[in-house]
Amino acid sequence: MFCEKCGMEIGNDAQFCPKCGVSIVSVTTVNTNEKKRHGFTSFYLIFTLICNAIVGTSYMFTPQMITQYYDISNELMMLYGLVSMGAVIGSILLLCWKKIGIWVFIGLSIVSLILNMAIGLNFIQSLWSLIGIAVMWGVLRIRKNGKTTWEQLE
Ligand SMILES: [Zn+2]
Repeated sequence: MFCEKCGMEIGNDAQFCPKCGVSIVSVTTVNTNEKKRHGFTSFYLIFTLICNAIVGTSYMFTPQMITQYYDISNELMMLYGLVSMGAVIGSILLLCWKKIGIWVFIGLSIVSLILNMAIGLNFIQSLWSLIGIAVMWGVLRIRKNGKTTWEQLE
């Protein structure tokens, strides 16, 4: 392994870096404790993940649930399902502290805005997916130990 401070190669069982003297144990401990998110942020991300997984799989595998009431093709239901599954990936990325997760959500909300307008919802009704982004943004701004989840994303 390598010293996290100076990059010097050191033995796996070393407790101190022979070059810069940093304590390996404390560096490792600090790094694992570094990222913290508020309990509600974790809850919201997991809740979003589960909801989108349920909605996505039902849109893809039982589209008749919707198509029997609305004039929507099975192909369009498949697209809506894929958008939901994309949101599942977005939630996983954010749970793994990857900033790209928010771009996944922004991209998907633009796609669903287009899909919603394509099926004849008006622009205002179509805006719901963008409100979801605003809520997600707010949830990522909740602080834990003085730090927001957003500023810890990489
Ligand atoms: Zn070192």
